[in-house]
Amino acid sequence: MFEKLNQQFSQSKLHTQQYRGCLALNRNSAGFTREMKEHIYTLVSDRAEGPFLYDLDGNRLIDLTMGFGSVFFGHNHPPLREAIIEQLGRSWSVGAITPLAGELAETVCRLTGVERVAFFNSGTEAVMVALRLAKAVTGKRYIVYFKVSYHGTFDTLLSLKSDPVTSHAMEHVPGVTQSILNESYLLQYGTAESLDFIRNHAHEIAGVLIEPIQSRNPSFQPVAYLQELREVTHDNGIALIFDEVISGFRFDLGGCQKMYGIRADLVTYGKVLGGGMPIGVVAGSRMFMDPVDGGFWSYGDDSCPEVKMTFVAGTFCHHPLAMATALKSLALLQEDEGAVIATLNETTRCFCEEIKGFFAQNHLPLDIVYAGSLFRFVTPGRSNLLYFKLQERGIYIWEGRNCFLSPSHSPEILEEITHHVMSACLELVDEGLIKIKR
Ligand code: PMP
Repeated sequence: MFEKLNQQFSQSKLHTQQYRGCLALNRNSAGFTREMKEHIYTLVSDRAEGPFLYDLDGNRLIDLTMGFGSVFFGHNHPPLREAIIEQLGRSWSVGAITPLAGELAETVCRLTGVERVAFFNSGTEAVMVALRLAKAVTGKRYIVYFKVSYHGTFDTLLSLKSDPVTSHAMEHVPGVTQSILNESYLLQYGTAESLDFIRNHAHEIAGVLIEPIQSRNPSFQPVAYLQELREVTHDNGIALIFDEVISGFRFDLGGCQKMYGIRADLVTYGKVLGGGMPIGVVAGSRMFMDPVDGGFWSYGDDSCPEVKMTFVAGTFCHHPLAMATALKSLALLQEDEGAVIATLNETTRCFCEEIKGFFAQNHLPLDIVYAGSLFRFVTPGRSNLLYFKLQERGIYIWEGRNCFLSPSHSPEILEEITHHVMSACLELVDEGLIKIKR
């Protein structure tokens, strides 16, 4: 099975094997099964342009991974490349702060409605700091997060299992010990029981962390639940933390806060904002952000930092290249009042609905779910061989399976993808690898 793949991607495989001894890379074993062993490696590419990746074998692949959602406009987008080159000519050093940071903070505040912004290097770091701020302001210890969400790799959030009686997150990854999970509750997203739990434990909960639209389950959009969660957290002195690392600046310029008309206390951003450069942002109300620096004060009067500070730091926190690409990205996204986002959302909807229709008409056990310009195939059982069939056809979807469209995916390319999805599915049926639903 999939012999062609071995030839097509022989250089990526060879490269993986050559460096496996010294390069420890979890992605090179992700989703390992004995059956698919020969096809488990990370694609190696050193050039990308628009919607395309070029790999070591010289294959041109249509990319649906798009930098895990960090590349909104397409690879090597000329205006962003120019912004990077322009900044390289000035400085890419840290130490003194780039003047771009203030301008970027102001722009993020204007677009999203937050009052203050702090810069870090990744979504993980932003989430970690947001939790710290929630605890600092509320003086409480517990964090609630939800099953199916993903918030990066901060230890207190690295569990998928909860104690059925206490709802404590439970150790399940070696090295993430129970003691570090003891202040985390892991609940079911969108249920009345989880709201009751939060009400009943309000005295000890500092913050509730959510992906308002979970990237692993994007068609589930419980707006009424979010509204109630906002009320419950507000009434009980709990920080509501929106993790908008994926949804921010992708689904809407103002993210889920704006789409739902719900104001969170703290929000995290990353990915799209950085225009492909590493970035993480914690943003929110003055009250929740002030422990970063003690709050507002002025020169020439008696004012001073009034709020007790927590600790945050990082060598690369306002990296000039990240600040420059972020500013340029926001400038591009704002053109025509965010029309590029609305258009891409609509393109994604049409694209997904066509494929959904095909699955239904052909009684296939697959589905496609989407929000904004993010989509995922739902591939129960062996229908997940679809990803290998698509790679054979020159379509790249990473092992976490979240897919993203960009404005560089032209109508012709979308048609090509749709055609390949259909032919790959029919081939899987012909080969007896997926069964038609009766
Ligand atoms: N939050 C969400 C919602 C994410 O999807 C991710 C990464 N995919 C993160 C946080 C972590 O971001 P990073 O990988 O930049 O650390």
